[in-house]
Amino acid sequence: MRSAVSDRAIARLATRRWSVFLYKPAASDAEKILDELDCVVAGAGVMGLAVARALALAGREVLILEAADAIGTETSSRNSEVIHAGIYYPADSLMARFCVAGRKALYAYCRERGLPHWNCGKLIVATSAEELQRLPEIAAKAAANGVADIRQISAAEARELEPSLSTIGALLSPSTGIVDCHAYMLSLLGDAQNAGALLALKSPVVRARAGDGGIEVDTGGDDPLTFRCRLFVNAAGLHAPALANAIDGLPRQLVPSSYYAKGNYFSLTGRTPFSRLIYPVPVKGGLGIHLTLDMAGRARFGPDVEWIDQIDYQVDPERAALFYQGIRRYYPDLKDGTLAPAYSGIRPKIVPPEIANQDFCIQGPDRHGVPGLINLFGIESPGLTSSLALAHHVRDMALHALR
Ligand SMILES: Cc1cc2nc3c(=O)[nH]c(=O)nc-3n(C[C@H](O)[C@H](O)[C@H](O)COP(=O)(O)OP(=O)(O)OC[C@H]3O[C@@H](n4cnc5c(N)ncnc54)[C@H](O)[C@@H]3O)c2cc1C
Repeated sequence: MRSAVSDRAIARLATRRWSVFLYKPAASDAEKILDELDCVVAGAGVMGLAVARALALAGREVLILEAADAIGTETSSRNSEVIHAGIYYPADSLMARFCVAGRKALYAYCRERGLPHWNCGKLIVATSAEELQRLPEIAAKAAANGVADIRQISAAEARELEPSLSTIGALLSPSTGIVDCHAYMLSLLGDAQNAGALLALKSPVVRARAGDGGIEVDTGGDDPLTFRCRLFVNAAGLHAPALANAIDGLPRQLVPSSYYAKGNYFSLTGRTPFSRLIYPVPVKGGLGIHLTLDMAGRARFGPDVEWIDQIDYQVDPERAALFYQGIRRYYPDLKDGTLAPAYSGIRPKIVPPEIANQDFCIQGPDRHGVPGLINLFGIESPGLTSSLALAHHVRDMALHALR
């Protein structure tokens, strides 16, 4: 079935999109949109872009609707940019499955496209007898997830790798690395657009109605539009549950609640003595205050875990005291006055603080009964690492739904 998009809506949408990229649509392009638009993705973070790319490369017409005036301004630009190996997640969870597959796909994609990334490796360091006892359990979990190269090393070996480290034993994960997330998102968008996808910025989806033969979508902002699509993917990140609650026809009891677990970062002023990522043994709700590096070799510490009620990205400088305390357990030489508040990101939790584990939650028509609707909930870490594998999974669900 073809989507019934009004000429007026398409004309305005095309103007809005093309005005962003400063060139005019060829008449044939505009006709193509009018005739064949069938998939709408709400949200241009790393997930929405990866899904849009996968759908466009599968030959579908795709429109990405993004609320902000640029791509990737929320969680996708407020994270650690780590390519996770797949160590911590419960066996058979979606996180374990998609992280391991996604990591391999992401490295291959970065190599193929020449995207900035660095397979620097990571150490998980024990600083107490109790933590040391937990290392074999973490290594076993990793092995069960298919992370074959992780191995326990002695304190002496760890210090040989990282002389500034204080530890009584560690795990070495050679397959962990970092990626320039923004370069990655731009590349995903480029692929999607080359395959015919459209991006409309400043186009929040405010309401949708599931009905016979498609989903009707209303956008808000200065220039509201309404149109119909056959497939609607809700990739709105922190706002995905709120958006799902604005879809008439979707059973409300299936929409999870939103909880926000903020992660604050502090940057290290001056040179870092480390050349690998350094993680403590994980804590409830997060991976502990770890050291990550960016592509320029600068170090930052975080994220911590701060449960909040409202989205608020301010970093309270007072939290530095907790950072100094946590970091000095594995980096005792950290000098006073060398940490500066940097930025924060918010984990899109769908379980309350008292529940330690959450998994990605992908709901398609098999789950909620609404044809052509896929909701992505709780895409927290390792969402960046998992994005290509998750997107392939969503594409396959979508193609099945569109048959
Ligand atoms: C502190 C922190 C550290 C992390 N570190 C890592 C890491 O090192 N490695 C890793 O693999 N993962 C990491 N993650 C997870 C990763 O960042 C996320 O899984 C990923 O960025 C989620 O992408 P997304 O596209 O789902 O969400 P987002 O990036 O939040 O994108 C959602 C988009 O939807 C838009 N939007 C919202 N509402 C609407 C609407 N109604 N209509 C249209 N558009 C809308 C928003 O403007 C936004 O652009 C981290 C997360 C956090 C919070």
